[in-house]
Amino acid sequence: MAAPSRKPCTCCLTFWWAEVVCWIARTYPRPRVAVRSERARTGLSAIDMTIKRVKAVFLDRDGVINQTVFRRGAQRAPQDLSEWAWIDGVHDTLRALSARGYALIVCTNQPDVVRGWQTRDRVDAFHALIERELPVSRIYACFHDTADACACRKPKPGMLLRAAEELSVELARSWMIGDRASDIEAGRAAGCQTVLMRGPTQSEQASADHEIRALPELLAIIR
Ligand SMILES: [Mg+2]
Ligand SMILES: [Zn+2]
Repeated sequence: MAAPSRKPCTCCLTFWWAEVVCWIARTYPRPRVAVRSERARTGLSAIDMTIKRVKAVFLDRDGVINQTVFRRGAQRAPQDLSEWAWIDGVHDTLRALSARGYALIVCTNQPDVVRGWQTRDRVDAFHALIERELPVSRIYACFHDTADACACRKPKPGMLLRAAEELSVELARSWMIGDRASDIEAGRAAGCQTVLMRGPTQSEQASADHEIRALPELLAIIR
């Protein structure tokens, strides 16, 4: 059999012009099912998600999405679903940010599991609840402790950088929202703009680009 004038595409072994499509798919590797479900959840167009890099709002979890609980002398993550309480306005605020074209990505440190204070199952149950109720694209969690010296535990920007790679996020057009100095530092290190959410009992020493006292105030800052 004569050799074809152009080699068939190595991905799909079909028409030569399919190479272009496959090149795009290889350059922006995104499982098709994930793209479809993220489009359904976030309302982002196919063009936004594959060709163009998306702008994102990275959100810390405890103190930004859900209320913290005072335990062992500090504000901490809830222990189980009976302690789970949403931050005021989180549903409407995140829906509005999603409608403005932002991918919403949760980046949370969860060292309580290795410290023996929390189980992985309960953390997974919290995250399933968040994914059910809020238009978030993905939740990244670091389960290490400081001594592990991993690249993902905030203030390191590892989770944000990984999300940027996996979800084609343009970091310079993106934001990090957190209630701790470590969130703000991670956001800065990733090249994002930053917003510090100040809780009623918090006096965190951090200088972010903006500060808010209630989550809906985000809508006046992130346009
Ligand atoms: Mg927090
Ligand atoms: Zn980590």
